[in-house]
Amino acid sequence: MLRVDALHPDPSIIEQAAVVLRRGGLVALPTETVYGLAADATNAAAVAKIFEAKQRPRTDPLIVHISNTAELPEVAADPPPLAHALANAFWPGPLTMVLRRSPSIPPIVSSGLDTVAVRFPAHAVAVALIRALGAPIAAPSANLFSRPSPTRADHVLKDLGGRIDMILDGGPTTVGVESTVVDLTIDPPAVLRPGGVPIEALREIDPRIFYAPRHAAANEAVSSPGMLLKHYAPRAEVRLFSGPREGVLVRMHREISQLTSQGKTVGVLALSEDAASLNAATHLADLGSAGRLDDVSRNLFEGLRSLDDYAAEVIFVRAPDRKGLGEAIWDRLYRAAEGRIIEVV
Ligand code: AMP
Ligand code: MG
Repeated sequence: MLRVDALHPDPSIIEQAAVVLRRGGLVALPTETVYGLAADATNAAAVAKIFEAKQRPRTDPLIVHISNTAELPEVAADPPPLAHALANAFWPGPLTMVLRRSPSIPPIVSSGLDTVAVRFPAHAVAVALIRALGAPIAAPSANLFSRPSPTRADHVLKDLGGRIDMILDGGPTTVGVESTVVDLTIDPPAVLRPGGVPIEALREIDPRIFYAPRHAAANEAVSSPGMLLKHYAPRAEVRLFSGPREGVLVRMHREISQLTSQGKTVGVLALSEDAASLNAATHLADLGSAGRLDDVSRNLFEGLRSLDDYAAEVIFVRAPDRKGLGEAIWDRLYRAAEGRIIEVV
């Protein structure tokens, strides 16, 4: 594990990481969304090691990262005009576009699909490493499959320590949830995964872009397996509450008190303004204020992991409004809860 400045990475450290990638090794690195586990995207044997290290099924395709929009034609064949418009608006940044795959990207990256997911990340470390390598990198989130995504280097160390060659520690990530994935190979274009770019912002570029939430059970075949229902899951049971705030807080308080009086270790992932009503819990992780969804998304995975570290048996959380970043936050919580929502009317 090497520390690296997130804004001005030391070129000699970046070069050490590039050497690992050139030899077909794996490097975990910070991006603005979550930490990624990188391999040279043009090296099929190196990419295979990503699936091994994460224990990720080979049917779950990886995102290819480039260091400049001009590199898009190297990884994607015939990107449509909308790809350029979205790149102009949101790159570098937390937007991934699914396009036709170029022959330079081996099929294993895309789980055999003839498409490829591409992103230009807004993080100096990621960009410097891609440039030093001189090739795109394939990089999924640097966690064990189905665990909460890593937003700090120590999350990566905990999940993947001993299984990968190097971790670049650039401090906590700023966005905290993964990129928004939009499929431009279908008409109309569709959001496959809500993420760091709000869907409303995409629709300002093309109002036809649609999103139909679809969360598949583990045994269901899916074209975009990041949509698996059980994902981002802590070890604890997650109870996700939805409905009017006052009613939800009363119900949460009652259930928390019941469990703690039975001697259970109860965690709560609390919006700042809710914390006082939920202090019967054994451990409380502060998500930040509902009025600052960028704070909530930044704190989300760290909160889930910290309650796991406290060995919480049950984690309580109130669902945020599904507007802007709220849609991505809701999606991650819904899957952490494996689809169990407690509706309070
Ligand atoms: P991760 O990098 O771990 O956040 O996961 C990447 C996710 O991007 C996958 O789980 C899919 O949901 C999506 N994805 C990547 N490549 C493709 C593709 N070619 N077609 C559709 N979805 C993709
Ligand atoms: Mg992932």
